[in-house]
Amino acid sequence: MIELTGVSKRYPSGHLAVSGIDLRVERHEIVALIGPSGCGKSTILRLVAGLDQPTAGQAQVAGHRVEGPDRSAGIVFQQPRLMPWLTVGRNVAFGLDPVDGTPTATSEVIDRVGLGAFADALPRELSGGMAQRVAIARALVTKPPVLLLDEPFSALDAFTRIDLQTHLLEVWEWYQPTTLLVTHDIDEALVLADRVIVLGGTPGPIRADITVDLLRPRSRSDPEFHRLQDLAMGELGRSRQAYQPM
Ligand code: ADP
Repeated sequence: MIELTGVSKRYPSGHLAVSGIDLRVERHEIVALIGPSGCGKSTILRLVAGLDQPTAGQAQVAGHRVEGPDRSAGIVFQQPRLMPWLTVGRNVAFGLDPVDGTPTATSEVIDRVGLGAFADALPRELSGGMAQRVAIARALVTKPPVLLLDEPFSALDAFTRIDLQTHLLEVWEWYQPTTLLVTHDIDEALVLADRVIVLGGTPGPIRADITVDLLRPRSRSDPEFHRLQDLAMGELGRSRQAYQPM
């Protein structure tokens, strides 16, 4: 569903943010990208979303070369980015096609994220976690085959973060969109993802591709969860060393 082949990105400033990445995400898979700050995780997501173009290689989504933002992918950022003057319903409808989009789709997805009673509320009346649920609803209102999440819960307090991780999995069950998640939180990656991909520094190639073979909902106290935490930490440690200028 997502395929990156030899993808590099050099920004106009000359900075090489992504170098020669090959990555495949299968249909209905949830894949987490982790790695040291600045290793190019968000840039990879932007390339998949079509918000940026690679300077080498190719990004494909649903069998098509990504040439710009389109209906294949919904994206959620760290901040909900809601329009403060629009109700929850109208913010979500913003993700709809103006021609084909139906109000039914809007109310269905708002119910899915558990905000049915808040469709007419304004963003300022919502908690941070609720606002982020609205952002998830807006990303999913057209049922895009791909969901892209860029540190979606990083700005929330620890309790809300865990709550929203569980909630995201419930919403994901709706039609199981192929999901690429950028996070710096190893536990979040292990709770949510089928595979955790560890990126190296400088930038570099993928350092590890860890399969999380645990049934959901996952328990953080499971010994296998701890083993995978250690494994991911070890790989991250190595990435950090690689990232530090000698
Ligand atoms: P991460 O998400 O892993 O923290 P990013 O993808 O945000 O990393 O950034 C990778 C590198 O590219 C960083 O060094 C960052 O400063 C740089 N970078 C990101 N966006 C731009 C931009 N628009 N112009 C120039 N450099 C950028």
